[in-house]
Amino acid sequence: MMEQSAHSALLLSLSSYGNPSSIHAPGRVARALVDKARDQIANAFGISESDEVLFTSSATEATNTALKGLFFVAQREGRRFHVITSAVEHEATLGTARSLAEQGARVEILSVDAGGRLDLSELDSRLQSRDRAAACVVSLMAANNETGVIFPWAEAAKTARFHDAFFHLDAVQAPGKLPGFSLADSGIDLASFSAHKIGGMKGAGALYVRGGTSLAVLLHGGAQERKRRAGTLNVPGIVAFGAAAAALRERDLAAIRTLRDSLENQVRERIPGAQVLGAKSPRLVNTANFLFDGVRGESLVMGLDLEGFAVSSGSACNSGSILPSHVLSAMGLDKSAAASAVRVSLGPANTGEEVQAFIEALERVVGRIRVKAKY
Ligand code: PLP
Repeated sequence: MMEQSAHSALLLSLSSYGNPSSIHAPGRVARALVDKARDQIANAFGISESDEVLFTSSATEATNTALKGLFFVAQREGRRFHVITSAVEHEATLGTARSLAEQGARVEILSVDAGGRLDLSELDSRLQSRDRAAACVVSLMAANNETGVIFPWAEAAKTARFHDAFFHLDAVQAPGKLPGFSLADSGIDLASFSAHKIGGMKGAGALYVRGGTSLAVLLHGGAQERKRRAGTLNVPGIVAFGAAAAALRERDLAAIRTLRDSLENQVRERIPGAQVLGAKSPRLVNTANFLFDGVRGESLVMGLDLEGFAVSSGSACNSGSILPSHVLSAMGLDKSAAASAVRVSLGPANTGEEVQAFIEALERVVGRIRVKAKY
């Protein structure tokens, strides 16, 4: 829930025509709102004064800025560029890595095991054998958006640092879902955040830049964000982002975990052939990814939608054909298992009654789909 003062700030940012780049009074009001949001975000994520928070339109833009920004610096210095990332990253990272590969960068992809876990020794050996003349960045997520599996990102950052490589963290899923998440003393160079993943508005994100990190500019134009990222700032989106970050300290993560665990236990008990993906791996408190034997995820998503519940399936429609998620494929699931996956995410507003109603709806829908499949 937003505090009263956050509500007033958001209303002010929506009603004021002030542009934070202008020096007149309405401009100064907008600037003060943006400054406050930047401080709220820095406080919430453990970012010190010597570091920077750069506002962007999304985490996707933040990740593009981080990886391409380092790439262009390497190009300027006449150095080759090397990206090490994992097979289960968000498309924001994998797509950026592919585009850098097209421009001559070397891209290496780390695998995960059946539980979605990363092997740090694989990272270490890839870094050990790397070309020292090339600039290198390791880009990994704090936790996976489909399975909730947490990566050992702090240790990975130390490993990268030890081998003189940059470390970029896709931190999108961490705040408000990963207990104790903070960048303080982590030694990481860059991190991407998304406002709407923590209760802010869509269309706002941020890039954390460790003080002294040299990044080329991607968006040229005005002098916004200390000439690091041109374009008029999305003041309402930034204000809501700051308020959402400040409100994270009130979030009861243990309560969300209890609800999620109860959901998973009851689903396993009540629905035959139900499994929880990554159940034995360290996971975010709010995510449950189920496999339902013999049930297509999309049928389940549609059936649950009719019952008033919004969940996601483990496959996506791409050019007319249904493709299994790259995350589930990387965990070794075959096409039909991946097609039976359904992801349920809980938020701070969900209640025990809602979880009970969801389980009952799930039982009904799975039962209906299985009966139909027999005929
Ligand atoms: N990284 C992860 C792990 C995500 O879950 C998402 C969005 O779902 C993104 C990156 C992209 O964030 P945005 O929508 O702000 O571009």
